[in-house]
Amino acid sequence: METAPGTPTHCCFCAMQCAMQLHADGTVKPLPHPVNGGKLCVLGLTSGELLGHADRLRTPLVRKGERLEPVSWEEALEVAVQGFRRVAAEHGESANAVYGGASLSNEKAYLLGKFARLALGTPHIDYNGRYCMSAAAAAQNRALGLDRGLNRPLADLPRYDVILMVGSNAAECLPMLMPHLQRAREGGTRFIVVDPRRTTTANLAALHLAPRPGTDLALANSLLHLLARDQRLDHGFIAGRTRGLKEALRAVQGCTAAWAAEVCGLLPYEVEQAAQLLAGARKALILTGRGADQNSRGVATSLAFINLALALGAEFGTLTGQANGQGGREMGQKADQLPGYRDVEDPADRQAVARVWGVGPERLPGKGYSAFEILQAVARGEIRGMLVMGSNPIPSSPRSDRVRESLARMEHLVVIDSFLSETARHARVVLPGALWSEEDGTTTNLEGRVVLRRAVRLPPAGARGDQEILCALAAGLGAGQYFSYSGPKEVYDELRRATRGAKADYYGITWERLEAGEELFWPCPSEDHPGTPRPFAERFAHADGRARFSPTPFQPSAEAPTAHYPLYLTTGRVLYHYLTGNHTRRLGRLTKKYPEPLLEVHPETAQRLGLAEGELAEVSSQRASARYRVRHNPRIRPDTLFVPFHWDGQQAINRLMNPVLDPICQMPEFKVAAVNLAPVARPEAVVAAAD
Ligand code: SF4
Repeated sequence: METAPGTPTHCCFCAMQCAMQLHADGTVKPLPHPVNGGKLCVLGLTSGELLGHADRLRTPLVRKGERLEPVSWEEALEVAVQGFRRVAAEHGESANAVYGGASLSNEKAYLLGKFARLALGTPHIDYNGRYCMSAAAAAQNRALGLDRGLNRPLADLPRYDVILMVGSNAAECLPMLMPHLQRAREGGTRFIVVDPRRTTTANLAALHLAPRPGTDLALANSLLHLLARDQRLDHGFIAGRTRGLKEALRAVQGCTAAWAAEVCGLLPYEVEQAAQLLAGARKALILTGRGADQNSRGVATSLAFINLALALGAEFGTLTGQANGQGGREMGQKADQLPGYRDVEDPADRQAVARVWGVGPERLPGKGYSAFEILQAVARGEIRGMLVMGSNPIPSSPRSDRVRESLARMEHLVVIDSFLSETARHARVVLPGALWSEEDGTTTNLEGRVVLRRAVRLPPAGARGDQEILCALAAGLGAGQYFSYSGPKEVYDELRRATRGAKADYYGITWERLEAGEELFWPCPSEDHPGTPRPFAERFAHADGRARFSPTPFQPSAEAPTAHYPLYLTTGRVLYHYLTGNHTRRLGRLTKKYPEPLLEVHPETAQRLGLAEGELAEVSSQRASARYRVRHNPRIRPDTLFVPFHWDGQQAINRLMNPVLDPICQMPEFKVAAVNLAPVARPEAVVAAAD
């Protein structure tokens, strides 16, 4: 079973992609690497325990009546294939869909996009990254001409004398980013952290601003207004490298500190202080995280912070969260993109990919539905067959109860996973796939650095590699000639060719260069190219080399507190869990640290309700109610509750969240909902609005 006694690879639990030595018995040791400096966080150190876990799926399952029954691989693949064929024959190819994930390797993400388009012939492929990075990605594409996340190596962070971090609790989401931030702080960098909670990350801050959830856009607009008022804009940079400042400034007229303070629930002084810190910076960096992105104004919010960076001659980046959040969004598993960030509706891009795939461009379907739109189409019976791989859409989607109902009754749901997720429990066919450590592959971390993950062992008996499963399904669907590979390296070589000349150009990053230990950032157009750690150092990626300002007039979130739902609810991660917890909630060392979702509530609010620490409370939105144990947190706004999103079933907080979508990127509003809070014994009680 073991292919090597100890294998250098990278962690599976966040976009840092820390380097580690992994042994087939699950032992993990950190490796020296520019990203993690020879250290790992608790998630990385625990990740190896997944390898021999008793819960691993080791046999395919097919639904027979109410139950999922173990069957042979031949039977499971046959049922899966015949289901997709039947759906296509009766309702058209577009009645099938594919739902992928941003933790999949580049090769799997690439194959999944190819599978949807060539094997199923459907335009409807999207992935869970739509719920994570899509707002910042869309904003960077619009403003900078290219989305490459952080846009620079982590080693650059100490170069900035001010770093503004908006909506990112790196200490719990990207733990090994913290040493980089702390090093910068020790070197004199001053941090402004914007978060409704004073998190561990916010402890870095010279200034912590705690705005109401969903109001970051107002804060960004006000900061731009104040800096323009005080004539602190970098007009040399603006004239030389940007377009459109005038329209952007017009949109922030009247965004005074008093106005922003009113909207955001801050003091005018705090807003002015942030503006002064930014104005005094020799070189500032603005970083956004999911707090800025995950709302129905996510793209506008990211654009507003990019406006601010451009106006100051500062720099901008976004902190990608999921393990392959960067590569996963480049490789063609998005509804509107082909590999390399190619546009699925651009004739030249279609031609380029079709040539590599050995088909005519007319074989490639056009733009399909985004992730939540796919689930909405399932609910109305338009999409009847779906393959889910590397994702758990029931608990990770807003208004999860409805998603669960519609997936449970859909005609043909096939799930590839290594553990039985909540989504898999409702499937017609479950195919036991591989862990990250059981197949070779590449990922692209939050910096844009491409890394090679090596398999430490094969999948356990009864499970198969994801690539092997996809290729078998494709063969069953009559597309086997397009899915014949000797292994991940051959997929990667094809991926390189498919991205050659595209925005996300991997052509020059060969497998051999990665094996030789080269540290390479895309774009890398030729095999002797050194890669591009800082893509915007000289010019932005629009044809004229200039970045674009965008007018970003403030619009509030879709839902505001009312008399019946007087509090804000926001959600996020905790250090000990990842995504919907389908992996981490099975690891004893992690669940011991954080066994159940806790509802963070300010002690004043808790006292008003008579909610003692550890007591059960019920939080309710217009959509659902859920019960959690109370944790008093004096570092959260009194009008705001926080619940982590790593649980499923009745504990899934996304059951309560608003499914309204950002009109540009279709990001759901995960970060703000209006809720009521009451002790379980008195669920009818309504909390008076916080002062
Ligand atoms: S910081 Fe992220 S990649 Fe690094 S060990 Fe922790 S979870 Fe893994």
